[in-house]
Amino acid sequence: MPLKVVEEATAGVPTHCPYCALQCAMTLRPRPGGGADVEPRDFPVNGGGLCRKGWTAAELLSSPDRLTTPLMRRTRTAPLEPVSWDAALDRIAAELRRIQDAHGRDAVAVFGGGGLTNEKAYLLGKFARVALGTANIDYNGRFCMSSAAAAANAAFGVDRGLPFPVTDIASAGAVLLVGANVAETMPPFVRHLPGAGDDRGLIVVDPRRSQTARDADLHLQVTPGTDLALANGLLHIAIAEGLIDTDYIAARTTGFDEVRRNVSAYWPERVERITGVPVSEQRAAVRMLAAGRANGGAMVLTARGAEQHSKGVDTVRAFINLALALGLPGRPGSGFGSITGQGNGQGGREHGQKADQLPGYRRIDDPDARAHVAGVWGVDPDVLPGPGRSAQELIESLGTPDGPKAMFVAGSNIAVSAPQAGLAERRLAALDFLAVSDLVLSETAKLADVVLPAAQWAEEEGTMTNLEGRVLRRRRAVAPPPGVRTDLEILAALAARLGRPDGFEADPAAVFAELRRASAGGPADYSGITTDALDSGAAVYWPHPGEHGTPRLFADRFPTADGRARFAAVRHRPPAESIDADFPLQLITGRVLAQYQSGSQTRRIHALREAEPGAFVELHPQLAERLGFADGQEIRVVSRRGTARAVVRLSDEIRLDTVFMPFHWPGDQRVNLVTNPALDPVSRMPEFKVCAVRLEPPLAVADRLHPSAA
Ligand code: SF4
Repeated sequence: MPLKVVEEATAGVPTHCPYCALQCAMTLRPRPGGGADVEPRDFPVNGGGLCRKGWTAAELLSSPDRLTTPLMRRTRTAPLEPVSWDAALDRIAAELRRIQDAHGRDAVAVFGGGGLTNEKAYLLGKFARVALGTANIDYNGRFCMSSAAAAANAAFGVDRGLPFPVTDIASAGAVLLVGANVAETMPPFVRHLPGAGDDRGLIVVDPRRSQTARDADLHLQVTPGTDLALANGLLHIAIAEGLIDTDYIAARTTGFDEVRRNVSAYWPERVERITGVPVSEQRAAVRMLAAGRANGGAMVLTARGAEQHSKGVDTVRAFINLALALGLPGRPGSGFGSITGQGNGQGGREHGQKADQLPGYRRIDDPDARAHVAGVWGVDPDVLPGPGRSAQELIESLGTPDGPKAMFVAGSNIAVSAPQAGLAERRLAALDFLAVSDLVLSETAKLADVVLPAAQWAEEEGTMTNLEGRVLRRRRAVAPPPGVRTDLEILAALAARLGRPDGFEADPAAVFAELRRASAGGPADYSGITTDALDSGAAVYWPHPGEHGTPRLFADRFPTADGRARFAAVRHRPPAESIDADFPLQLITGRVLAQYQSGSQTRRIHALREAEPGAFVELHPQLAERLGFADGQEIRVVSRRGTARAVVRLSDEIRLDTVFMPFHWPGDQRVNLVTNPALDPVSRMPEFKVCAVRLEPPLAVADRLHPSAA
């Protein structure tokens, strides 16, 4: 598909990568004859580097898979056929209204995504609450950051993934990285970490000896699902060896005495039995952190490996306890942070597409927050619905007697990314009506009654907020293909058809201006951020209520009622599902370098598809030998919830009791057919990271060997 070049853009447009939360800077240079070139741009987070996903990002702009016309099916079983925009939008509005008239306002749900710009996330939330009046809106960020967010809010009074610029990591003498394989998921991040040959130390906690773990000074190869016990054990050692910062604890925190009593039960030998991490390595990790603290600072960073568990919030609290006891948060070159995954995973959770939030990271159950946002929206606070169901609970309720009967999805591929994906697919199919806005016919869009072709990334203006809370300008470099509209245009057109012709601007600048007013006074205050500041390349960090933003939080106080950070006594418990004779292996999940999330974008990039063409399951050669599997052989990964197909990839870098499978592929290669939807009680985050499985030969072979087993 030839690109239509935006006139002023032929010289190249400074923008940011469409994928992960690092938001590496690049210049996109459209070629007049078609296509576009990516050039890395020097910027603090990426220092002029890109990973291969960034280098190849422009190919998606001209993908032959792009949708360029709305599609609609006349009945649930009819095929999708091209229709006009008016026909598609009229049908969506009529169906949503019909279903709400028959079943009530909450019978229509809205589902967003952590890749949407701040403007889209904001307008989607407003669309749900004002145009539809439904409480049922949530987004796929619930699957990504909700445990870290809940823990940070509870401990620090605010959730900004990194409460300091990412470049501060470079001055830390030691970094403890828990459940993050940044060497593969966001390679330019590695430049900030301690590296070979310097006098700084990197400790990695991961059940796999990942690329990041191989590059570390110390790898704690923890049993899946036991990070919390490890964190408590490290704090136990820090107390026993006199390495905690008692002055900091006394001056800046509350709740330490209970935590001290709690971690007294996590002595090193017991922690070794729970986690598999030898006592000597536990001690070495604590001593490295203490030494690093004296050598510029120490940092504790968590990511999905620690967080995507049914005890994810408590696990993050345990690592925050460790960081607080060592006196790290708010100190130069030190701190605690969580590494956000999705491109706008940070901004996407601040502006109102989450079931319990309003713009500015306000709580929807806070009367003052409701009054403020309702004032900006020109509605009565009492008409604002919510809170509604969390993402997984919402998905499981679709098409049930008490659940929504229709849903509008923007920027999310639930059919691949939700846990127990087979059930998610059945619930989507049980809806009376499903509409999806996307740039390609994703696996979720294939299930829809109406599909709207949406503009992407470099085809529209907007802002993103990266993993450090820095707000960035995303620029339009090429015009969308003819027939494609932006999500803001789609929401404005639908709102008008639903009786709200005013208050839904399609112009991103107007939406951002309104977002700034709606966020004013909230925890994520964007009110002082100007487009000029963003265009100048200034470092713009929220909260930004006036002329100046806040690159570093917590220097003097924490934004809690008493200004102190809160310890929390948290206890280890096993994963929601234990291994047994039927399902004797632990399955862990994650990402690979050449694919991103559900793969709906990166699977369409030639070089990335070549590099990682399909699902694989990584297992230890000794385990493979015992089971009779060979490298490259196709097998089945089976749990109590379903079966996924994958090719064996042997690696002696993984534990003998554990197998690893990435989650980027559709159909029967979806690892989420297998994963466990057990939820964290606070964040409602599913337990993507660990479940019990067995490995079986392909069905045809199994049929031959054990006819009754099939
Ligand atoms: Fe894009 Fe993330 Fe790769 Fe940077 S690290 S180029 S933001 S995918």
